[in-house]
This record gives sequence, C-alpha cells and structure tokens, in this order.
Amino acid sequence: MRILQNASLKQYNTFGINATAKQFAAFSTIDDLKELLEHIHKKKSTLLILGGGSNILFTKDVDGFVLKNELKGIELVKEDTNHFYVKAAAGENWHWFVMHCIKHNYAGLENLSLIPGNVGASPMQNIGAYGAEIKDVFESLEALNVKDNTVHTFSANDCAFGYRESVFKTKYKDRFVILNVIFRLNKIPAFNTAYGAIEHELEKMNVSELSIRAIAQAVINIRSSKLPNPAEIGNAGSFFKNPVLLQKQFQLLLKKHPGMPHYTIDETHVKIPAAWLIEQCGWKGYRKGDAGVHIHQPLVLVNHGNASGIEIYQLSEQILKSVKQEFGIVLEREVNII
Ligand SMILES: Cc1cc2nc3c(=O)[nH]c(=O)nc-3n(C[C@H](O)[C@H](O)[C@H](O)COP(=O)(O)OP(=O)(O)OC[C@H]3O[C@@H](n4cnc5c(N)ncnc54)[C@H](O)[C@@H]3O)c2cc1C
Repeated sequence: MRILQNASLKQYNTFGINATAKQFAAFSTIDDLKELLEHIHKKKSTLLILGGGSNILFTKDVDGFVLKNELKGIELVKEDTNHFYVKAAAGENWHWFVMHCIKHNYAGLENLSLIPGNVGASPMQNIGAYGAEIKDVFESLEALNVKDNTVHTFSANDCAFGYRESVFKTKYKDRFVILNVIFRLNKIPAFNTAYGAIEHELEKMNVSELSIRAIAQAVINIRSSKLPNPAEIGNAGSFFKNPVLLQKQFQLLLKKHPGMPHYTIDETHVKIPAAWLIEQCGWKGYRKGDAGVHIHQPLVLVNHGNASGIEIYQLSEQILKSVKQEFGIVLEREVNII
C-alpha cells in the first residue's frame, strides 16, 4: 500500500474540486484497510472514506487521511423460490453492478441504472431514482467499525433507511466502513414504468415486450439526455433534497402559489420538487465565476471549470436563503459537505 502525501483529490470527486488530502491511500483488501486504520489511530488522524466521489463537495483541504475504497467482487450467495441474493463489494461501480444483474436476469435494480458512484455508498443515502430505492431490494450489509476493526452485519431495519437517509449519515456517521452489500433480487420481475418518462421512452424505443433490459435502457436514455455528465461539467447530481411538507403548510402555500407542483406521499405529507422552488427564485442558469446552477436542471449546482468548493457552497447558501424567504421552506442539502 502506498500512502501519498498532499495528494490532489480533483480526479476523485465529480465536482472536480481541486482540494488536497494530507494523506491518501487506496485499499483493495480488508486486511489492507485494517492495517491503514491502525496506522491512522496511531497518528490520531482523521479519516474520510471515499467511493466514486459523486456525492461530495470539498470546501477545504482534508487535514487527515482519505481512504479510497477499491474492494471488488460480485457473488451470487443464495437463491430461494423467488429471489437471488447477490453480494457486491463496496468498491464495485454501481452502474456496472446494475448491468451485471441485468445480464444475469436478476431483477429489481433496472430503474437505478446509470447512477454514478460505488456500491458501498448506495446504502449511505438509500439511493433512488425513477420510483425505486435500494431499500426495496436491500437484504443486508457488512461494515467495519473504524474504532475497533470489528465487522458488523446490518439488516434493513438496522440501517433505518429514509428518503436519501440512513443511519450511516446520522447516528453512525464516520463510524463504519461499508465493505459489501447483499441485494435481494427478483426471479420474476415486477416492472415499474409508472415514473417519469419511462413509458414514453419505451414507446419511442419501439419495445414490444417489456423486460428489465428495456427498462434499464429507457432509464439510461432519459438520464443521458437530462442530466449533466460530470465528465463534461463538474457536478454531484441533485444538490438539495425535495422538501416534504405537512398538508396544512402545503395548502397555505398552494393558495399563494396555485401552480406549485407536488406529489402526495400520504394523508399528511406532500413532496415539492426543489428544482421548481429554485427556478421560481430565478436561479436557473445562474453563474458567478465558475460556480453555477445548471441551465436546464436547477437542482444541480455545477463547476464550470475552476470553482472552489467554498464558492459552490456559498452559492448553495444563497439559494437556501432565497427559497426560505420566498416560500418559508428550508431546503436540505443532499450532497455531503466536507
Ligand atoms: C450526475 C449525477 C447524478 C446522480 N443521480 C443520482 C440519483 O438519481 N439518485 C441518487 O440517489 N443519487 C444520485 N447521485 C448522487 C450519487 O451518485 C450517489 O449518492 C452515490 O451513491 C454516491 O456514491 P459514491 O461512491 O460516489 O460516494 P462518495 O461521493 O464517494 O461518498 C458519499 C458519502 O458516502 C461515504 N462513503 C462512501 N463509500 C463508503 C463506504 N464504503 N463506507 C462508508 N462510507 C462511505 C463518503 O464518506 C461520503 O460521506 C448522482 C450524482 C451525479 C454526479
């Protein structure tokens, strides 16, 4: 294992922020990880685990260790009448893992195609898209406690999944390194095409027989046409979560803003698209220096080239303030701020 000093993180985060890590190392075995953690404890250094860097904003240099997770391996661990249980190591690329499952007819991840990042981060914020979340197919995960190097198994209950939330972002923040995840995938697919433009895209593709492969391709087509590619313009996808309001608060707002789009979650809760709120406040396409709001996707903050993390963060502060002023809604950031 090579420990690099003052290593640039620019190529390791999709925002393309030029921060540095005081120390940087990659691990591809659990033994290497344990050894690195012992070294970090001895040095009393801080630790940041990095996957694909697609949900992170570095607002400063990291005055400690950054460990890049490169654990690899995909394995069918069990089968029963209805399910395949597939274990993927944390360092596997998420989209490649989804493609692997589709190739083997393991159903359930097709709507989550083309989400950037690695398998290990997927439970962190219960990744979701096009009407699916990983909690729907999650069986368990193994994670290493960074304090004592013990390995623990977490069930879905233990993970306390919520909308872009899990116990790893709250109670156990910075306490565990996720090593692998087991997904419970279906033998008989339950197609989910109701969300977004999937139906329309399938029609455009002239799909005569529905399959998980066709749905994955439809999602890939839609995402590729809609979302900015981090290889072309720095970003971390949705910067803010869609706020969830109580019906009562929503009804009052609706009187003032009759065109407000919304999705009813249940009898008492309503979700509002944060993109709409941001656009109403006039931020769509805004740019100051190299920090900006995407021209078509106001929920996505972008680095046009050489923005610093702090410039992007300050822009997010301005957006938060104006949405609060206009709508009385406090947006929450989805991206992890370092
Ligand atoms: C263009 C674009 C589109 C996106 N679309 C979506 C979308 O549709 N839905 C969605 O949910 N997300 C989306 N995202 C966000 C992002 O892809 C996901 O959150 C993804 O799971 C992040 O994975 P990562 O490996 O890049 O995590 P990183 O950014 O490397 O890390 C994210 C957080 O997880 C921690 N972490 C990472 N790996 C581990 C581990 N093994 N153990 C413990 N902690 C760990 C990190 O310390 C950090 O706090 C999008 C991002 C981009 C750039």
